[in-house]
Amino acid sequence: MEKLIFEYSRKGRKAHTLPVAPPVKFGLPARKSLCLPEVSEIDVARHYTGLSRQNYGIDSGFYPLGSCTMKYNPKINEQIAALADFTGAHPAENPRALLKILYDTERMLCQIFGYARFTLQPAAGAHGEFTGLLLIRAYHLDRGGVKRLKILVPDAAHGTNPASCALAGFQSVTIKSLSGGGVDLEDLKQHLDDNVAGLMLTNPNTLGLFEKNILEIAELVHQAGGLLYYDGANANATMGIARPADMGFDVCHLNLHKTFSAPHGGGGPGSGPVGVVEKLAPYLPRPVIDRRDDKYFLNDNLPKSIGKVHSFYGNVGVILKAYAYLKIQGSSGLKRASELAVLNANYIKARLQDAYDFPYPQVCQHEFVISAKNFKKQHGVTALDIAKRLMDYGYHPPTVYFPLIVSECLMIEPTETESKESLDAFCEALLKIAEEIKTAPELVKSAPHNAIVGRPDEVKAVKEPDLNYFQTG
Ligand SMILES: *Cc1c(COP(=O)(O)O)cnc(C)c1O
Repeated sequence: MEKLIFEYSRKGRKAHTLPVAPPVKFGLPARKSLCLPEVSEIDVARHYTGLSRQNYGIDSGFYPLGSCTMKYNPKINEQIAALADFTGAHPAENPRALLKILYDTERMLCQIFGYARFTLQPAAGAHGEFTGLLLIRAYHLDRGGVKRLKILVPDAAHGTNPASCALAGFQSVTIKSLSGGGVDLEDLKQHLDDNVAGLMLTNPNTLGLFEKNILEIAELVHQAGGLLYYDGANANATMGIARPADMGFDVCHLNLHKTFSAPHGGGGPGSGPVGVVEKLAPYLPRPVIDRRDDKYFLNDNLPKSIGKVHSFYGNVGVILKAYAYLKIQGSSGLKRASELAVLNANYIKARLQDAYDFPYPQVCQHEFVISAKNFKKQHGVTALDIAKRLMDYGYHPPTVYFPLIVSECLMIEPTETESKESLDAFCEALLKIAEEIKTAPELVKSAPHNAIVGRPDEVKAVKEPDLNYFQTG
């Protein structure tokens, strides 16, 4: 196991070589036992370089993690977000330039997705869902809809959807999908009554399929008095092509840290802005950023607001990266990104056509699913085994066992930032693995063969969390 930086500590060892300057007083409370590692600069450099080499990120290789949109994050976004004018801005001063950038980011998102307003406060996709559901709640309560406590969620939905429903005080009710991958309209109709607050839908859904009946679905839900919530974490397929507001969605969250190119993974920080149609704008988290005569200011005068959901204006660093990305791409660049994301997914799918089973054979959007059900039946090789074997070929495994409605599921999302060469190399690896499954299944079942961590117990960390590095007793 890799040591902690503290274990390299030797009394009196230092990592800095700065000349001695007169002491600066920061007014921190004096604490004798502040436990900081005493290490040399080379210890620090080697330790963290070593750790980074054990990790796998989008900068180390192809990362086809379905639903997570692991696209390349241009370094210029980092440089812009790290400018001293931004990192040194203090919330209490409400820096005008920053307010303008946040305002402009909101306007761009409104244009791309068709909404009247966006709040940039939520810190993640799931936080956006929670915020959006509170908005739906506030809307119904304002109209006396106290009974509206049901949110309909298709069985293909991301796990955060039902979880956010529960957190926001709703009951989530599962709606079936048809064998073709779309929402079962008959099942939907069965569940529509005046207890329904709304429907949450991802479009394209987690199978990578566009819901063709969306206009009819929207009409049915609206007729029943419900609102439509768009889980926009899959927006990478639709930028500049289709707008959720035009499909009838009243509320939508985005994942800036997926679609809009901020690095993610490892728990944050992220940003999950929530867009709303005009009638929901009064309930948005306060404050909102408004503009009068070219002046930008915080408007806290929102008597119906659900309240704040984040300090300051959200995770501003992530928003700045998205702003830079939006400005650099422009509307034609965003559309091109979505077109290429869809093309790349379909290219891989076409190349694997004869070697793997596709439960939804139609043209996909930005991602698709494979089922290893038959490999399991015939050779005892599971989706997990294939994912682990991909690690031997140098790839981050795709998403597995999600969505839940596909047995032995592998979910692949290449994104637009990969070249044809890298897509081809990935296809070659998967084609080889398909051969191995038939000729040497044990090789696949015992993978990975070179990883530092091979097959950890998948639930142990959840069931028996042990968060102390040093064992006590
Ligand atoms: C990633 C994702 C989410 C949740 O986003 P977080 O930022 O991880 O909270 C929700 N829905 C879908 C479809 C996703 O892919």
